[in-house]
Amino acid sequence: MEYFALLQELNECHAPSGNEGELANRLAELARPYADECYTDTLGNLIVHKKGRGPKLLFAAHMDSIGLVVTHIEQDGYLRIGKIGGQALHSILHTPFRFQNGTMGVLVLSEKVKEKDLTMQDLYLDIGAKTKDEAETRVQIGDTAVSSMPTFCMGSRISAPYMDNHISCLVLLEAIKRLGTTENDLYFVFTVQEEVGLRGAKTAAFQIEPDYAVAVDITSAHEPDSKFQCSSILGGGAAIKVMDASVICHPQMVELLTQLATEQGIPHQKDVITLGGTDAGAIHVSRQGVLTGGICVPCRYIHSPVETVETSDVESCIRLVHALAKEPLQTVDKRS
Ligand SMILES: [Zn+2]
Repeated sequence: MEYFALLQELNECHAPSGNEGELANRLAELARPYADECYTDTLGNLIVHKKGRGPKLLFAAHMDSIGLVVTHIEQDGYLRIGKIGGQALHSILHTPFRFQNGTMGVLVLSEKVKEKDLTMQDLYLDIGAKTKDEAETRVQIGDTAVSSMPTFCMGSRISAPYMDNHISCLVLLEAIKRLGTTENDLYFVFTVQEEVGLRGAKTAAFQIEPDYAVAVDITSAHEPDSKFQCSSILGGGAAIKVMDASVICHPQMVELLTQLATEQGIPHQKDVITLGGTDAGAIHVSRQGVLTGGICVPCRYIHSPVETVETSDVESCIRLVHALAKEPLQTVDKRS
């Protein structure tokens, strides 16, 4: 797969919500040669600006991933942990986690509890420490850990723990590389803290005041028995968001993206999910409102350590982001 090495590199960065700095630095290095300016704001959002004389168009992809945080260290060296973002406990049980300093651990269940009854309180992170003192030489209360499952290919698909949302960071990065000069004033924002409440997107949208915005994220693709909750399928092309639980996209944006995809022969599908949200949810209600849409990479097994995407869909999303960035947009009269 063309982008496999890049994705693997992004996945090696430690970037749970609130600690995205390592990934932001790497993305800034990769984007800087193609940008007019590249900076981070107070919360840590990375803003890659490509200047144009036309209206402001903001693309947002969140950098943060879900993870774990240390809440308590037991006398026998086990760590008690809390969740950062929406973790499905059954899917992370007996899987490896890593801390920013390289400390590894495995998530295990108290022997007294049956797997079907497990709650967060029944889980321990075992980092191989025999005592509390030994554990404290490696980790502290408040340290964060992320999944350490591998990134690997399965036929034309790739599986990794952080497709949500490193794959969309990759989509924006590849689109930036292909841009050349543009009329639109383009802001590619790699946001922080999406998984804990779309927090970075709020301040970024307020600061930039875009005329148009598109959130780029993954979306649920059909798994066995899930067809009533989501519309998209793997291999069906770029998923053009109609709605999720955080946003009903502006019809003008849905139409524009659909028209561009059709004209340029980009495989695409309409995306409706009844659960879950994206940065679009925060951006569309910023200030007096923003014309907002979404471009999504269909993904199976979301918020598990084996999130899976189809490579052809990734390419379709890059092409659609690029097509919109290059499309001469009309200035928006916000009081018509
Ligand atoms: Zn996401």
